[in-house]
Amino acid sequence: MYLGAHVSIAENIALAPERGRAVGAEAIQIFSRSPRMLRRTKPLTTEETQGFRENLEKHGIVRAVIHANYLINLGGADDNTIKYSREAFVEELDRAQALGVRDVIFHPASHGGKGEAASIRTTAESLDWSFDHANAPDVFAVLENTAGQGTVIGSRFEQLAEIIKGCAHVDRLGVCIDTCHTFAAGYDFRTREGYEALLRTVGETVGLGRIRAFHLNDSVGDLGSNLDRHEDIGKGKLGKEPFGFLVNEEHFRGIPGCLEFPGRDAGYKKNLKTLRALVKGPNPPTSPRAPGGKRGDRGTA
Ligand SMILES: [Zn+2]
Ligand SMILES: [Zn+2]
Repeated sequence: MYLGAHVSIAENIALAPERGRAVGAEAIQIFSRSPRMLRRTKPLTTEETQGFRENLEKHGIVRAVIHANYLINLGGADDNTIKYSREAFVEELDRAQALGVRDVIFHPASHGGKGEAASIRTTAESLDWSFDHANAPDVFAVLENTAGQGTVIGSRFEQLAEIIKGCAHVDRLGVCIDTCHTFAAGYDFRTREGYEALLRTVGETVGLGRIRAFHLNDSVGDLGSNLDRHEDIGKGKLGKEPFGFLVNEEHFRGIPGCLEFPGRDAGYKKNLKTLRALVKGPNPPTSPRAPGGKRGDRGTA
């Protein structure tokens, strides 16, 4: 796994790789624009996109992923929300393509009272609409599992699998597993046995081959608390052990795993050290499988 962190794009998006390097990251996650406004923003300039690409190379960042705007709700309850969310999502896909980033990670939806099944259907339709309207043939839309707070969907891997099944562009979809959300949603993977059970669940629902990213966060909330609050690795309710299983997992070689405490960059260095100390043996510098390439699913093996 390529270990990294969510870093700021303040002032200029091209500065993000250097910020990643400064905390010791091999992978970075960024917002492609302000994450708390939905209205259209001005397109990235060639200077910004070129600078970003060059700086990835220069600062040794192997993988970069984008986290979509928080306000995007592709399966929302009203037409206006859906319309603006789709347009903003298209913008995210286009910006990723321009930056040479292959993954746009997003939170599936909040059904806002319209019910899970309807929201899952709308989300799948919104994804198809977005792929048809974007000019981003190389970009994956990556569904992140949620903690299950409020009316959000996507806390069960079965729900993510249903969204994927309902989408006509299945080959454009990936999954990002957030460790804090997984635990808060009720999956206990603190022991080897629990971890293996989680892998089986993921394999049987979305498929292990669909995992394109991890968010590595410990959890403030307890098992099944539905609380989306991230904690330093080893300081939360998960503890260090499950992160040890993940960073040494064969299946997840070459996949980016990012810490997520936007605005708290100071902690990244320490947390990345903690994670690296859990890696047994040499962490292979390159993936045996090209990121984005087709990978077999080991299923329940
Ligand atoms: Zn996350
Ligand atoms: Zn979270």
